[in-house]
Amino acid sequence: MMRFLSKEYDVLICGAGPAGLYAAFSLQKRAPGRFKVAIVDRKSPWKEPVSCAEAVSQRILARYWKPNEYWIRQHLNGVFFTSPDGTRVGFQQKECGYILDRAKFHHEIADAVASLGVECDFSSEVIHLSRSDDSLWNVKLRSGDEECGLKAKVVIDATGPGSKITRGVPGLETLESGNFDLEPAIFAIAEGIPHDVHHIELLFGHKYFPGGYGWVFPRDGKTVNVGLVNARQYLRTYPPRETLLKFIADSYPEAKILSVHGGGIPCGQSFRPLAALGVFKAGDAASTVNPISRSGIIEAMKSGKIAGESAVDWLASELEEERRDIEDSIRTHWMEVQGKSHLGLARAKDGFASIKDSQFDRAAHKLASIPIEKRSLFRIFFSVLSSSPSIFWKMRSFFI
Ligand SMILES: Cc1cc2nc3c(=O)[nH]c(=O)nc-3n(C[C@H](O)[C@H](O)[C@H](O)COP(=O)(O)OP(=O)(O)OC[C@H]3O[C@@H](n4cnc5c(N)ncnc54)[C@H](O)[C@@H]3O)c2cc1C
Repeated sequence: MMRFLSKEYDVLICGAGPAGLYAAFSLQKRAPGRFKVAIVDRKSPWKEPVSCAEAVSQRILARYWKPNEYWIRQHLNGVFFTSPDGTRVGFQQKECGYILDRAKFHHEIADAVASLGVECDFSSEVIHLSRSDDSLWNVKLRSGDEECGLKAKVVIDATGPGSKITRGVPGLETLESGNFDLEPAIFAIAEGIPHDVHHIELLFGHKYFPGGYGWVFPRDGKTVNVGLVNARQYLRTYPPRETLLKFIADSYPEAKILSVHGGGIPCGQSFRPLAALGVFKAGDAASTVNPISRSGIIEAMKSGKIAGESAVDWLASELEEERRDIEDSIRTHWMEVQGKSHLGLARAKDGFASIKDSQFDRAAHKLASIPIEKRSLFRIFFSVLSSSPSIFWKMRSFFI
C-alpha cells in the first residue's frame, strides 16, 4: 500500500539502485533539509538476488562511500586472465577491489538517505510521467492494484537498464532514439568450482564468449558467481543461458548450480542530453556503463552524484535560461568525469569483438613468461601492447 506524506515533492527519484540512492544522498548532503525529496522503487533495494557480479575498484569506491566490512563479501588482491587455450595469467595488486554484497550495500545507503530526511517507498512502480499545466511533473505510480499520482518539480530517472519512464520527455535519450546497445548478461550462483577467494577470474575466447568475456567471482568462500556477457550480435548464435550452462558443464563438471539469473547491460553511448525540463537521467538509465568491462556500479554513483547536485542548483534557480544551462551542463560534467573515456572505448568495441583467439593466446603466453612478482600494470601493458595493441586497450578497461 502506498503511503506518501505529501502529494507534491521538489524532487522525486525513481529507482533505488546505486544511481538513485547516491543521487538522493548527494542532494541531501549539498542542501540538507532544504527540499522535499522522495525516492521510490518497485522493489526493495536489498531484495536478493541483485542481478550483478558485484565487483568494484576499492580505490574508486572509497571516494564515494566509506568501506564497511558488513557489505564486503571479499577483499580482492588481483585478477586471473584466462586465454582461449587455457593459459592463465595472474596479476597481483593487494586490496585492488571488493566483491560487494550489494543488497547490504544498498541497505546502508538507503538508511543513510532516510536519516537525511528523504522519504523512501520501495513498493511503488513508476508507470507514467506527464507534464502538468503548472509546469510540474505528474508521476503516476502503481503498487499492486492501487494507483496514485504525485507531483514533482524535478524527476530523476534512475530506473536502470531499459529505462522507459522518460520516453515521452522531449529531448531526452530513449530506447528508440539512443544507442543503448543493451547486452544480455547471465550468471549462476554455483558451488564446487575451484577458485581463489581473493582474485577475480576473467576468461576470453570465441568458444563461449564472443565479443565479451566470462567471469568467475568469489562470494562466500564456497559459492561463486560465474557468468558471461557477450556482444549483442551473438545473441542468437550464442543464447546466453545455454552458452553459460555449457561452459560450466565443460569446464567445471563437478559444479553444482544453485540458481541462474540474468540482466541487461546498456553499453551504448551517445551525445544526447541527460536532462531536459527538470527530468534528469542517471546510472544505467543514462547509459553510463563502461562498454568494455561492463562495470556500472561506481559509474552509476558518479552520475547519481551529478544528477543529485544539479537538481539542487536547478531548484535554486528561478530563471528558465539558467535552468537550461544547468541541464546542459550535466552532459558536459559526465563527459569530463567518465563519459569521454567511455565514448572512446565504445568506438573501439567492434574492433575488440574481432580479436582472434590466437591473439589472446599470444598475449597470454608473453605475459606468462614474466615472473608474477614482476607483473606490474606497466609491464603487463607494455608486453601486451607489443604482442597485440588491440588487446592492450581491451585489458586496460578492466583496470582503470
Ligand atoms: C549480470 C550482471 C553483472 C554485472 N556485474 C557488474 C560488476 O561486477 N561490477 C559493476 O560495476 N557492474 C556490474 N554490472 C552493472 C551494474 O549492475 C549496473 O551498472 C548498476 O546496477 C547500475 O545501477 P543503477 O542504479 O543505474 O541501476 P539498477 O541497479 O538497475 O537500479 C535501478 C532500480 O530501478 C528500479 N526500477 C526500474 N524500473 C522502475 C520503475 N518503473 N519504477 C520504480 N522503480 C523502478 C529497479 O527495481 C532497480 O532497483 C552488472 C550487470 C549485470 C546485469
